[in-house]
Amino acid sequence: MAYTYDENNIFAKILRGEIPNSTVVETDHSLAFRDINPLAPDHVLVIPKGPYVNYAHFAEAASDAEIVDFNRTLGKVVALIGAGDAGYRLISNAGRNGVQDVPHLHVHILAGRPLGPMLFSG
Ligand code: AMP
Repeated sequence: MAYTYDENNIFAKILRGEIPNSTVVETDHSLAFRDINPLAPDHVLVIPKGPYVNYAHFAEAASDAEIVDFNRTLGKVVALIGAGDAGYRLISNAGRNGVQDVPHLHVHILAGRPLGPMLFSG
């Protein structure tokens, strides 16, 4: 599948330093920052620094180093926010049916309260 990356999406602007963010962890290949509209006491977004539209694009096109770094960064955030014991949820929306608003891969890490059912039906 061919992916088209929009260089003007808001996370691209964050990565270029054009918009501020509340950084939790930054590595060579990844950035984790607090969601501006938190849906739980802890709501952190983890993004790769590379231009990937969604998870499948990243899994297909990213280097091994980027993929390892991204996953390790996710783990670091879970440890830093202290969510390992009580638990947390990872969500990565993609495309129209996934209701993805920002077309740069991001994984939401939600924690800090019981999160309820995974999805509402219908
Ligand atoms: P999604 O619907 O999965 O694409 O989620 C996009 C997320 O990005 C939403 O939870 C927004 O609250 C969040 N968001 C949008 N702009 C910013 C920003 N400037 N800083 C942090 N989070 C943002």
